[in-house]
Amino acid sequence: MAVSMKKHEMPVQDPKERGKNFNEVALGYDEETAVAEAERCLHCKIPKCREGCPVAVHIPEFIEKIKERDFKSAIDIIHETNSLPAICGRVCPQENQCEKHCVLGIKGEPVAIGRLERFAADMAKDEEIKSIEYAPNAKKVAIIGAGPAGLTCAGDLAHKGYRVTIFEALHKAGGVLSYGIPEFRLPKDKVVAKEIEKIEKLGVKIEVNSVIGRLYTVDELMEEDGFDAVFIGTGAGLPKFQGIPGENLSGVYSANEFLTRCNLMKAYDFPNYATPIKVGKKVAVIGGGNVAMDGARTALRLGAENVYIVYRRSMEELPARKEEVEHAKEEGIEFKILTNPTEILGDDNGFVTGLCCVKMELGEPDASGRRRPIAVENSEFNLDVDTVIVAIGTGANPIIANTTKGLDTDKHGHIIADEKTLATSKEGVYAGGDIVTGAATVILAMGAGRTAAKSIDAYLKNK
Ligand SMILES: Cc1cc2nc3c(=O)[nH]c(=O)nc-3n(C[C@H](O)[C@H](O)[C@H](O)COP(=O)(O)OP(=O)(O)OC[C@H]3O[C@@H](n4cnc5c(N)ncnc54)[C@H](O)[C@@H]3O)c2cc1C
Repeated sequence: MAVSMKKHEMPVQDPKERGKNFNEVALGYDEETAVAEAERCLHCKIPKCREGCPVAVHIPEFIEKIKERDFKSAIDIIHETNSLPAICGRVCPQENQCEKHCVLGIKGEPVAIGRLERFAADMAKDEEIKSIEYAPNAKKVAIIGAGPAGLTCAGDLAHKGYRVTIFEALHKAGGVLSYGIPEFRLPKDKVVAKEIEKIEKLGVKIEVNSVIGRLYTVDELMEEDGFDAVFIGTGAGLPKFQGIPGENLSGVYSANEFLTRCNLMKAYDFPNYATPIKVGKKVAVIGGGNVAMDGARTALRLGAENVYIVYRRSMEELPARKEEVEHAKEEGIEFKILTNPTEILGDDNGFVTGLCCVKMELGEPDASGRRRPIAVENSEFNLDVDTVIVAIGTGANPIIANTTKGLDTDKHGHIIADEKTLATSKEGVYAGGDIVTGAATVILAMGAGRTAAKSIDAYLKNK
């Protein structure tokens, strides 16, 4: 039978309905659809898809197991290299990774590897996790930050017999998975909380509300509290702004603040939850990445009537996941591309009344390889909005670097770590995830956590 050139569609909530609720948009394959999609895999002799996966999941092998309806083996194979498949299956940018290399993609659509990964993870029965019997003299490791990098590093080290404590600044673990990515893309109780619970069941302690650099320093953890090694996975959570006039007006949010209020503080359920959030009727979101799409789609769900993505390059350069862009369009988000804001306008009381923008055109490629946007002369216009969400990227919070002796950072404030081992300039201290690479992806952060756990194990065995 000829292989279908199209992926099996992912069932989704109706766009009109979902714009009013925070329930998950993509509903997941059922068993028959998953098996039919698995049958599209050609089982190439040299599977290029695997090369495209940052943690080299054994892709054809797990897909074969789905085809055989042996779902337990499918998830076991994935777990060999990926500890967070229910999350990665939902949020990885597969079109730039595994699926980009699928041979079927040359003439048609690649195998829906991400959807199959999610299916296998969702099918997995809750495994019974046995807590680890620690040796009385087991060495102690501190992990700073409970995002995907920190959680993965903690889980791997616990499996290796170390006593692990995670220190997390916020009141909830998960990092961006909890405070950034919205519920409608990544359900918190069904998916994220379960992953965290598994790690805690291994015996990992999670100390929330613990800002390292304020409560204790890295040096204190090592010299006074007896931690033998430290992993820093503090992410890149410091919002960037354009530096244009009007950014201090009421109604201007950084995407991080906006999403944190909504996701973590449940502002959408005010007054049942204590944190309010004010969203107007016309919202401009500046930026074109996943964060911008999440901000725009959250604003829509909070009652905005017109939501615009304002992006200075073209649709081809838009860095967000393809599926999020499609979903945003279906929900009625308007894309103002090749448009750059120059000023946020306000009234006498300091509230946002509009966004002054200029049209752009694309010139020669810049250092990032993308064509440089150039302002078109005399093309200024005003967008009528009452709320502006700035989602143009985030940087490293300097608090750890500023309070730790002998920890080198680069000119952007990212911690410098050895590419292979993730060892920093300070003995016994390792770092990985967004705090090293700058804002990147969940799977890369997870991979870094895994690499660091191996290096810390090797270091402590030789110490
Ligand atoms: C809104 C949004 C949407 C995204 N969507 C996607 C997507 O669809 N797909 C994808 O692959 N990636 C996506 N990303 C990027 C991805 O989430 C990150 O690359 C990833 O979470 C980085 O993991 P991390 O563990 O390095 O850091 P984080 O997830 O940022 O976690 C760091 C943790 O450290 C804590 N911390 C910081 N400083 C301290 C301190 N001093 N003491 C104690 N704790 C501290 C923070 O509170 C946080 O919990 C998105 C990011 C955002 C913001």
